Amino acid sequence: MDNYLLYEIFIIDSRLEELKKNNKIQEMTKKISEFKAKYDMSKRRYEQLVLMIKDKHIKQKEIAEKIKKLYHEVDMAEGELYSSSNIKLLNQLEEKIKYTRSQIKKLEDDAFELLLEIEEITKDAQHIGAELKNIKEQFEEVKENLNEQKLEIENSIAELMKKREKIVEKIDKGIISEYEELKNKTGKGAATLINGSYCSACRMQLPLMLVEELKNKKTLTKCPNCRRFLIVE
Ligand SMILES: [Zn+2]
Repeated sequence: MDNYLLYEIFIIDSRLEELKKNNKIQEMTKKISEFKAKYDMSKRRYEQLVLMIKDKHIKQKEIAEKIKKLYHEVDMAEGELYSSSNIKLLNQLEEKIKYTRSQIKKLEDDAFELLLEIEEITKDAQHIGAELKNIKEQFEEVKENLNEQKLEIENSIAELMKKREKIVEKIDKGIISEYEELKNKTGKGAATLINGSYCSACRMQLPLMLVEELKNKKTLTKCPNCRRFLIVE
């Protein structure tokens, strides 16, 4: 009787151990931190681009103002040009207008260049923005999935613990405390199955008599070598 019950405890304990070191959870926890790193990196890049665009918009405004000012200067000079008859002054004014127009042309080229740059960066930023959204969605999905699985595992553990308690009540206290002690000492299985006439844990061949006794479930015996409780399935 105790042999069978101890076997159940052993199965429950193995299951509990499996649940506690669930690979899927570890895998997903790793995935979550990978998502986080990827997201943070993209977000930093995105913020950089947004700053760059802002900066270039300011430059664009500055250039526009300069161009406006220069056009005004040209207008003024042209006005003077038509109201003056001094040859020397006329020549100076024409030179000034020519120079200012070339300045305007240069600034307009700069403005166009800037416009192209802003378009390019905006495209990049939109691309990264979409990527961020995508990462976030995937991240949420994984996180939700992970939480569900965690909850499932926690429920399974609680259920198994309850079941275990009920079985423990039925087992001789001496045996169960010996089993617990052994489990704490070895860190895992304090009981093991026999495989034919061998101990599954340490692979030692067991005395035939002992195997016979075990199979008749008359006794609760430990492996003479590794001291684990031996269990017949
Ligand atoms: Zn053994």
